[in-house]
Amino acid sequence: MHDPAPAESALLLVLLALSAAAAWRRFRPVWIRIRTARPDAGYRLRPLGPRLARFAREVLAQAKVIRYRPLPGLAHAVVFWGFLAFAGVTVHHLASGFGFPLLSRETAFGRAYFGAVAVFAAAVAVAITGLAVRRFLVRPRWLGKISAESGLIALLIFLLMATYLVDYFEAGSPALLRANWWLHTAVLLVFLPLIPGTKHLHLALSPVTVFLKRPGFAEIPPLADDDDFGLDTGKDVTRLIALQAFTCVECGRCTEHCPAAATGKELDPKQVALGFRDYLRAHPPGAEAPLLGAHLSEEAIFQCTTCGACEYQCPVGVQHLPAILGLRRGAVNTGRWDDDHGSQLFVNLERHGNPMGIPAAERRRFLEEAGLPLYDGSQEYCLWLGCMGAYDDQGRQVVRALARVLEYLEISFGVLPQEKCTGDAARRLGNDLAFGELAAENLEMLSERKVRRLVSICPHCVRTISTDWREYGEAPPIEHHSELLARHAHRLPERREGSITFHDPCYLGRYREEYEAPRAVVRRYGALAEPERTRDRAFCCGAGGGLFFLGEEQGERINRARTAQLVATGAGTIAAACPFCRSMFRDALTGREEAPQLVDVAELAARALPSEGSAGEG
Ligand code: SF4
Ligand code: SF4
Repeated sequence: MHDPAPAESALLLVLLALSAAAAWRRFRPVWIRIRTARPDAGYRLRPLGPRLARFAREVLAQAKVIRYRPLPGLAHAVVFWGFLAFAGVTVHHLASGFGFPLLSRETAFGRAYFGAVAVFAAAVAVAITGLAVRRFLVRPRWLGKISAESGLIALLIFLLMATYLVDYFEAGSPALLRANWWLHTAVLLVFLPLIPGTKHLHLALSPVTVFLKRPGFAEIPPLADDDDFGLDTGKDVTRLIALQAFTCVECGRCTEHCPAAATGKELDPKQVALGFRDYLRAHPPGAEAPLLGAHLSEEAIFQCTTCGACEYQCPVGVQHLPAILGLRRGAVNTGRWDDDHGSQLFVNLERHGNPMGIPAAERRRFLEEAGLPLYDGSQEYCLWLGCMGAYDDQGRQVVRALARVLEYLEISFGVLPQEKCTGDAARRLGNDLAFGELAAENLEMLSERKVRRLVSICPHCVRTISTDWREYGEAPPIEHHSELLARHAHRLPERREGSITFHDPCYLGRYREEYEAPRAVVRRYGALAEPERTRDRAFCCGAGGGLFFLGEEQGERINRARTAQLVATGAGTIAAACPFCRSMFRDALTGREEAPQLVDVAELAARALPSEGSAGEG
């Protein structure tokens, strides 16, 4: 605005102060909830390099937003980039209301900058219209209920862009342009206090949240001390959980990818984030009211397979796994969780060292029958059987197949005379005591036997040993058998078997970001047919998070839903790379007519060896 009258500047000052005060009034409770929350145990800001790289990728480039929903993602990204471009224009706009414009269109820089912002304004106007059409007319299920607030925000953004363009092109008389200036100002001043009370708070918080989030994927934070039982009441909510809860933009990407939500369970990961937010809004800081109750459901929390799809997808840095598993910890460590299967599982781990409750003598018998060599410190690898490899019939088949392949490749290996469960299920069901004991005992045993390198058929063992055990000591490096096989695939005999579909185990794919190794093995034996949900978007088999031992009581079975996706590829063979997945698919295929064969990648390799019979199941 040129030459504002003193009365206009005074009015602007008053309105600006009112708008800022209203914004602070709404933001203050959020700030207090985050600031007064419990510090996150074991949290370190350094190293900064990976944080800055993630910030550049996920915030500045909006890579996550665009990658998984290209069209609406690009529209969101355009709005975000438009906001960045508008920052200087907004400061200039308000300064001009006091007679001190910061930039002049007469300079080369001013011309270029205002021109570029005009291009952004047009693009943002189109993008926000498209997003509004999607939200109010197309209405994808995972976006949830229609909210008037979203409509109002979209309208305000559109008006901001339109009024800027009117000003830029000077489309009107001086009086009209002055009125347009005031309309632009009014929209800005209404927009500012709306932000903190709505999901649009993510505009301010998400860059901070993405930058500050805990490093690693789906990592379970350590407990602070002996008095920390996990997330039990309001006083246990940590700063990161509070920050992330207030950052959720309710986009529903997590829900869209959640296998529990997709099969009709009560669990909805978006509602986990919003449940924390609702609790924090409803209670004063440090409240003693239980977290599980009105805002967060115990039943839902124990339906999570820990597949990590939600956390992987979230574009604003919400980490669901520490929150969900923290709530499980709170329920289990305080003795509040009452579940017959869960109790039996914990008793089995305590008495027999495995979740099935099978006596250890059965494992020794299997080692003898299979003729597996014992690890004596001289071999290249210690083959970690895991509970599925040691006690489950199908898991044992995979171990036998891998042993044959290793022998063929002349890679020396041995197995341990004893192993205890890694504690994966106990850890992910929130039983820190059982997990800690198992991890410590196993670590001591590996150290006594001077194990230098491990390989395992189970991605859950690989993850738990390589990551979760760190709290209790340093484990030898461990790799998944598909990684070892992929490195040596060129030395294995080929055998073409037609079309093979491969299921990415969550703990190998999203958790370890290993997608290529198992595919390199599969491609040696047939044409790879990718299923509907694959690689980092793979649908879970339903076994993780201890659910293999608890079972599912609500909705469609997850293993059936995933098996249907695999069968729909028309492939003659389903290849798995995890004994839990294999068992889940076996269960879902039972009784199905013309079911494809089901094999592990090690079995694919083994049955191509000279004189090998058919190792798969029909
Ligand atoms: S980890 Fe998987 S099952 Fe659990 S809430 Fe997230 S998407 Fe759903
Ligand atoms: S938690 Fe993340 S993915 Fe889920 S609704 Fe909120 S912002 Fe979207």
